[in-house]
Amino acid sequence: MAGKIPNDVIDDVRSQTNIVDVVGQYVQLKKSGNNLFGICPFHDEKTPSFSVSEEKQIFHCFSCGRGGNVFKFLMELEQISFPEAVTKVADFVGFSLAETYRPTQNVQESSEVTQFKQLYRQANELFTHILMSTEAGQPALDYLHERGLTDQLIETFSIGYLPDQADLMLSFFQNKEVPYQILRQSGLFIETQTGKLHDRFFRPSDVSDSECAR
Ligand SMILES: [Zn+2]
Repeated sequence: MAGKIPNDVIDDVRSQTNIVDVVGQYVQLKKSGNNLFGICPFHDEKTPSFSVSEEKQIFHCFSCGRGGNVFKFLMELEQISFPEAVTKVADFVGFSLAETYRPTQNVQESSEVTQFKQLYRQANELFTHILMSTEAGQPALDYLHERGLTDQLIETFSIGYLPDQADLMLSFFQNKEVPYQILRQSGLFIETQTGKLHDRFFRPSDVSDSECAR
C-alpha cells in the first residue's frame, strides 16, 4: 500500500485547486449571486439545489445535504478513498505527487470496474430469469424453442428477454440500492436532460430523442 499522504502535501494540493474547475467537469454550473448552482449529481432533481462556493472552496446540496471540499466531492461521486481523491485532484491540477503517496492502480480500478461488472452480470441474470422462468418471458421462450434453440443453448449464451415494461431494470437496481452515479455511468440507462434515468432497452413514449442527453 501507498504511504499516508502528509497533511502539508494535502494542503498544497487543495490550495492549488479551484473546486469550481473540478466540479465543473461533472456538473454544469451557473453563477447566481456569490455561488454557482447546478443539478445535484448525486440524485434525480429538476431544479438545481447543488451549490458551489468558490470563495469557501466547498460544495453543498440543499436537497440531499451532501457537502464538503473538493476531495469529499470526488470521494462521494466516484466512490473512491481519500488518498485516491487527493491523487486525482493532484493529477487534475498538474501537481507532482510523489509516487510513494499514490494508491496502487488496481485498488482504484477495482472499486468501479468491479461494480460495473457486477451490474452487467446481474442485469444479464435478470433477463435470463425473465425469459426462462416467468410468464412475461413465455412468448419469447416459445419463439426461441420454435427456432430450435434448446434451454441449454439459451443458458450457455445467457440469452435473456426484457419485457415491454417501463424501467423494470432501473427499479430492479434501485431496489438493490446501487448508487445513482454507478447506474448513470454504466451505459445501461439513458439520461434525460433533467438527470432522470430510463432503461436503455426500453423507450417510454413520453421521452423524445431530444430529451435524451446521450
Ligand atoms: Zn443533492
